[in-house]
Amino acid sequence: MLHFFDKIHKNLLKLIYPDYCAGCDNLLLHNEKIICTNCLHHLPTTLHLETETNEIHRIFYGILPIEQAYSLLYFHKNGIAQNLIHQLKYKKRQDIGNYLAEMFSSEFKVAVSFKTVDLIVPVPLHKKRLYERGYNQIDTFCQTLSQELNIPYDKDVLVRNEYLKSQTKKSKIERREVKSTLFSVQKNDALKGQHFLLVDDVLTTGATIEACAKELLSIPNAKVSILTLAYAQS
Ligand SMILES: [Zn+2]
Repeated sequence: MLHFFDKIHKNLLKLIYPDYCAGCDNLLLHNEKIICTNCLHHLPTTLHLETETNEIHRIFYGILPIEQAYSLLYFHKNGIAQNLIHQLKYKKRQDIGNYLAEMFSSEFKVAVSFKTVDLIVPVPLHKKRLYERGYNQIDTFCQTLSQELNIPYDKDVLVRNEYLKSQTKKSKIERREVKSTLFSVQKNDALKGQHFLLVDDVLTTGATIEACAKELLSIPNAKVSILTLAYAQS
């Protein structure tokens, strides 16, 4: 009986506060969660997790000795991935992070390089930005990923020292000029020889990831793999 009233209560709440698709803003049907069936069907997945070498890995080739690199989705202007990340980042829709980690969990579990990962590390926000936004947009994704893969997650390994303006309009040459002091790593003996999975929301030029990965690779015998929610091809 209680379950029956719970259900009515839930449906009434939905009438008052309807759920909208985080991909296209259309109303969600009662059996749809986060994104509608149509968006789910058209989700621009990269299939990177199924390939040993891919376009993300090639971005860093010759620049950084990384193990593996993946993006889950293609980021297009006004596309589904852009909407999802916009909601996640600016609309406090942290549930989207959990949802994406759950959605790809079976692929994560078979991806070869994930098997040797020791620690999940997010690209950190500057403390001023963290205070303004209230959360790091990649946090819930990392938490669920950590649970799904049974790999620890530590958000304090890297620290962002300075505020950096958007890199989207910078060229591949300009990205080389990103200051090496932008991030610093909390060095301690426990981090030696670890394989880090560095996680960020959108990969554009790769400048931010590059600066973080360089810091992590300054730890003796460290290895770094990269995972981003989306890739904006330039
Ligand atoms: Zn939709």
